Parts: sequence; C-alpha cells; structure tokens
Amino acid sequence: MENLNKVLQKHGFYFKKAYGQNFLTDTALLDDIVEKSMVNSDDVVLEIGCGAGALTRALAKKVKKVVGYEIDQKLKPVLEETLGEFNNVEIVFGDILKQNLELVEKKLGEKYVMVANLPYYITTPIVMEFLEKAKNIKAMVIMVQEEVANRFSAVKGTADYGAITVAINLRGSASIIKMVGREKFTPMPNVDSAVVKIDIEEGKTDGIDLLAVRNAVRCGFSNRRKMLVNNLMNTYKISRAQAEKVLIECDISLTARGETLDYLEYIKLSNKLKES
Ligand code: SAM
Repeated sequence: MENLNKVLQKHGFYFKKAYGQNFLTDTALLDDIVEKSMVNSDDVVLEIGCGAGALTRALAKKVKKVVGYEIDQKLKPVLEETLGEFNNVEIVFGDILKQNLELVEKKLGEKYVMVANLPYYITTPIVMEFLEKAKNIKAMVIMVQEEVANRFSAVKGTADYGAITVAINLRGSASIIKMVGREKFTPMPNVDSAVVKIDIEEGKTDGIDLLAVRNAVRCGFSNRRKMLVNNLMNTYKISRAQAEKVLIECDISLTARGETLDYLEYIKLSNKLKES
C-alpha cells in the first residue's frame, strides 16, 4: 500500500477536529498494539472509528473478521483503497452512538472483541454503554489519553479511582498494554495516549441488580470530599443513624469514602440499601 498520507492527499481528505481525527500511521506500532491485545485468528473484532484504516489493516491480518464503524463518509474512498485487499473486513458508515447495540451484536454474530481509537470525549460514554449493555463482548481494547487510561486501571483508594473504575471491575479488569506518545499521531494532539485492555469475565454480573449497584456507586462518588455516610444520607434521604446502620451491616468503616470501596463492597452496600 502507498504511504497513508499520500492516499489521504490523493482523495482530497482533510482532518476534522470535530470527529477527533488523529490517525496512526506507524505500521510497526499498530502491529504491536494488535499483538499485545492478544487477538487471534478465531476472533471477530468490532472496530469503532476506523479512520484511514491503518489499525483495521493490522487487525484484518490477524483475526477472522473485522466489522468497522466510521462516522465520516469522506473516508469511504480512502478505506476502499486501504482495505481493498481484505475480504474479511466490512465497514459500516454511521455514528456508533446512534446504533442499536443489540443489532450491532446480531451483525457480529458471535462473541467479539471491541477495539476503538476514538475522540476522547466520546470514549467514556461508549465504554460505559458497552459495560452496561453488551452481552457478547469478550474484551475491549481502547486507545485513550493517558490520564483516562490511569482512571480505567486505577487502584482503590487513589485519586484516579472513580465510578468508571468500579463499573469496569464489575464486569472484568483493566490493564494498560501500551503507551503511545503524541508524536505518533497525524496531526499531533496535545496529549499522550495509552492502550487499555479490559477483559470481560463471563458471568461476573449474574444475579446482581446492576441498576442498584450503579446508583450506589454514583452515590459513593457524588461528593468525593465527603464521607460515604454523608453521601448516603443525601442520596437516599435517610437519617445518619440509618446510614450508619447500613455501613455497619456491610462491615464498612463509618469514616469510609467512596473511593475506598471495591466493587464487591458496592454490591453489598446496594443490597443493604434495598433492604433498609
Ligand atoms: N483508528 C484510526 C487510527 O487509529 O488511526 C482512527 C482514529 S481517530 C482518533 C478516530 C476516528 O473515529 C475518526 O476516523 C473519526 O472520524 C471516527 N469517529 C469519531 N466519532 C465517531 C462516531 N461517533 N462513530 C464512529 N466513528 C467515529
């Protein structure tokens, strides 16, 4: 394939900031990301935000099938050229946020790995949507800005630990698999990035009232400067005595804060709150 920048130029493509278009072109880097994401020839991949198709190519060489979603129709001729040689790739032009996830999963037909290098402002909502609703997902491999990667993989009790960390831990676990400097992107953004892999554990949420847990997590982080007991009183409109009773019954310290609880304690807390 011709140099990617030349292909983009040839088709008169210009980068759109609104779509967060910072493309990766270094094939060795892309191959390494795919290698570290541990996908193999049995895997079906859902790629969100294909751009000029550089990551799509690296994936298509390794996996059984790639279904890609790309919002920008202007990339159609570019992707036809960069992906033309692969018969295991299908690109859908549309906004991933407007797709029905159940239908997307139907199209994929089996368990899949979601891979995304998206504009940072839509990454967290998309990750949340997949954590909450995706049924057949095995893993997510997501390129995010470094500080978001730290939040996704944070340890309990640290400043980075938040509602998104607990949401991830409820379904699986996250780890940073690669750091990617800003100079690797065209055009160059003003932040460094990291690739995070979230492995989804099958059955981890079976029998759990996820809505109740989500509400408890939201409450726990509603005011990080306050102790959990105060956040419980405010969110659930209960007295201090009631909030303390719930915490004691859950074996949680009366001075605990939202960021000191792990996902199992949030499950316990949400169950007790339902009872009280
Ligand atoms: N994957 C390519 C790469 O690694 O070079 C491109 C990454 S670029 C950061 C993000 C891509 O996501 C762009 O091509 C952009 O047009 C696309 N995109 C942005 N918002 C989208 C959305 N809501 N649905 C689908 N694609 C989207």
